[in-house]
Order: sequence, then C-alpha cells, then structure tokens
Amino acid sequence: MEHMHLISALAEQLSHQGELNNRPVVAPNDTYPYFALPESGFGFSGFCTEFKHQIEPRLSGSNGPRYWGFVTGGANPTATYADWLVTSLNQNVSKGGDSAASNIERLTLKWLAELFELPNTFDGVFTTGATSANVLGALVARQYAGRQSGINVALDGFYGVETKVLSATPHASMVKALGFAGFGQKQWEAIKTKSNSEALALDSLISNLKALKLQNPKCVPIVIASAGTVTGTDYDDLDSIAKICREYQAWLHVDAAFGIFERLVAGPNGKTKGLEYADSITLDCHKWLNVPYDCGVFLTKHIEILKQTCHVDAPYLANEDAEIPFMSIGIENSRRFRALPVFATLLSYGRDGVTEQIKNNIKCAEQMANWIRRSEGFELAKDCLLNVVLFKPKNGSDEDTRNVLKKVNQSGKVFMTPGRWQGQSIIRAAFSNWRTTNEDVEIAVRVLSELE
Ligand SMILES: *Cc1c(COP(=O)(O)O)cnc(C)c1O
Repeated sequence: MEHMHLISALAEQLSHQGELNNRPVVAPNDTYPYFALPESGFGFSGFCTEFKHQIEPRLSGSNGPRYWGFVTGGANPTATYADWLVTSLNQNVSKGGDSAASNIERLTLKWLAELFELPNTFDGVFTTGATSANVLGALVARQYAGRQSGINVALDGFYGVETKVLSATPHASMVKALGFAGFGQKQWEAIKTKSNSEALALDSLISNLKALKLQNPKCVPIVIASAGTVTGTDYDDLDSIAKICREYQAWLHVDAAFGIFERLVAGPNGKTKGLEYADSITLDCHKWLNVPYDCGVFLTKHIEILKQTCHVDAPYLANEDAEIPFMSIGIENSRRFRALPVFATLLSYGRDGVTEQIKNNIKCAEQMANWIRRSEGFELAKDCLLNVVLFKPKNGSDEDTRNVLKKVNQSGKVFMTPGRWQGQSIIRAAFSNWRTTNEDVEIAVRVLSELE
C-alpha cells in the first residue's frame, strides 16, 4: 500500500516536469506561512496535499530552461532517476566493505578524469558542491604548507606555519573557505588582473612571490587560480602559473567549478591548458553536468596529504577495505551515494552527449549576445566568452540596470542575476541547463525588447 502511494505520487510529479517550460521561472509568492508543529501526523497523503497546494507553487522554476541566474544546471532525466535510487537505497558511502557504492564512486571519479582529459594521477572525492571542494582545497593546501616546515596541521594545529595565499579573483566560496581554514577571509594577497579581465596578471604574481620570499624565505605560498571566473568567465593562464608555482614550491589549487567543461569543446589545450599541473582542482557536477543538487568534486594529485588532513582514528570506524575510505579523504563521515547520478549521466549520455549539451548552451549564449549587440536599448558589458552574457541598458545608470533586471525577473518568463563589471552594475545571464533551446532565447529577447 505504502509503495503504491509512493509510485503514484512520483508519477504525478514526473508528469509535471514537462510544465517546467510554462511555469513562472520565479515563484510569485515565496513565503510559506508558519504553522504549529502537528501533534498528530497528517500521514503521507497529508504531506502530498500540502506539497501540491502550498509548497510547490512557491518554488522556483530553477530546473527549467530559462533560469539563467548564477550558474544553474538542470537535473537531467537519467540523473533524476538515479538520484531517486540513491534516496531509496540510502547507502552510506563512508567506507567500503559492505557495498559496491564506494567502488562506483571511485570509478566515476576516474571517468570524470577521462572526460576532462586529466592524467590518472588525480584522485579525489565527491563533495556537496564547489564550496566544500574549495574548503578541502584550502585545508589540504594548509596541510602541505605545514609539512614544508615539519608541522602536521591536522594533528598539531596551524601554529607556526608560515604561508600566504595569493589569488586574483577567487570565487566568494573560496574566500569563505579561506576563512574556515584559518587563513582569514581578508588575509589573502590580491594579485593584479589583466585589463578588462578577471584573469591574473603573471608579472604581478611573480613580483608578489619574489617579495614574499625576500621577506621570509620559509614562507610557503599557496596560489588559488580560477578556470572560469563566475562573472567574466575569465581563465587564469594555468600553464604559466603552474611553472611559476613549481619554481616557488607553491601549492596550486584551481577552482574550475564550471569552467572545466570548456575542455569538452576545446580539449586540454584550450583555455584550461595547464590544468593538469594543478595540485588540486574543484569542479561542480550540479552546474554544467546537470545532475541534481548537491554534487561537487575535489580532485588532487596528493591523496596522501588529503588523507593526512581528513583521517581520524576511531576503533568503530576500522576499515578492512584495501582502498582509502572516503570518510578519510573528505569532510563528512556519513555520506550520500552522490556519485550515482554522475555515473548515470556519463553512462547514458557518454562524452558525446555531454559535449553536445555544452555546445548547445554556448550557442544559446552567443545567440543572446548577438541580439544584445545589435539591439537599440542594450549593450554588452563584455564580449561573451563562453556561456555567460553580461549586459546593461545602453548608456544606463546602475539604477536603470537594476530596474530592468527587476522587470525581467518579474515577467516570470526568465530569471537572471545581477553582477558588477569594471565598477558598473550589470545583468548576468548564464546558460547551463540541458533544456535550454534557441526558442528560450527568443522568449527572453521578447521580454527584453519590451523594455528597450
Ligand atoms: C558556483 C561556483 C562555486 C561555488 O559552488 P557551489 O556549488 O555553489 O558550492 C565556486 N567556484 C566557482 C567558480 C563557481 O562558479
């Protein structure tokens, strides 16, 4: 009986997926009222009724084709199904020994390395997202810095470790990670950027490193590079940065959350050339790979240092598996079978299917940018370099930009987010949903032309 309810509820929910095209992209009334905790329950059907009438109408259409805020993926059908399997089978992928789930997570990490043409020296762990992958990046870099002066930070703390973080345009989540890891959100050294770009200026990095070493020869530098900044879609020159890092024995962490997908189009010698020299890499699957939230990946060539960072001894956690258990190379002990939707996506769509979808998003972004370039009322704030379009009302003030964005989002047809470029307010449209088509761009263009 219980199962029948579940099946019909799931079937009903699935049949709604097609409506994602038509429902408002932003929920018109998103405040759910407080009511007292039920003393006696309303049962499964009580929840279903509440969800259908009171909760679902208040949710956004973020899984649909015209939600262009942040960098938002849509859950593809195979991954959606796989994620339901993960929930219903509820494996705990903390360590192996009782299930093949760990083994499949390892295989999926290998597939991701193959997908992105990274050497098989990269190993890693699934995380809740790029934020937690960046936290691991900060923690393992800290552990490395400690090792250089004979300090095991995981055991003995950060006291006496001489290190400095250098970066040009770290993502906000990376800054947050630096706070968590004890470097301090405000304590990283800002490297200059190239002009009209968020990418790091190499000469500035070199002079900062030189100065750092002159001041304190023992200081271990940590360089945080970006492979795809979230606003400008700018890429640091990883190939050159990696060489510089080797020279200064600096740790190189690359935040490639969504930018790594450019490799599917341009190969390993495109904008991410040199990524293979990174010590660690952050990437997101719930963005451009279109698996459900939440799913990120942390990769590193130094799995032993990661293990030293994360492992703790406890008798009840003893492990007979020959492989390192995931709880010893990640933040959580108990872990969801997060790899399965990624495995399912790679198995069902293959390299070609995933690449096709990336190309489609890039084409849609170009289509949108071309319309803006030719439009009467809008202008591009920057050329569209990949899947993100930055624009504003032509000759408009910051306030004009904010007003236009508000009206665009109030239309319920398309959702975009604000940003800043070269000191000016801009509107940002990011394309990363597998459902988005040229027709969706046309719908957005109609909304914009009414505001010209
Ligand atoms: C989105 C993003 C993050 C943060 O990712 P979450 O998955 O939201 O935690 C980090 N870095 C970059 C470059 C991003 O685009």
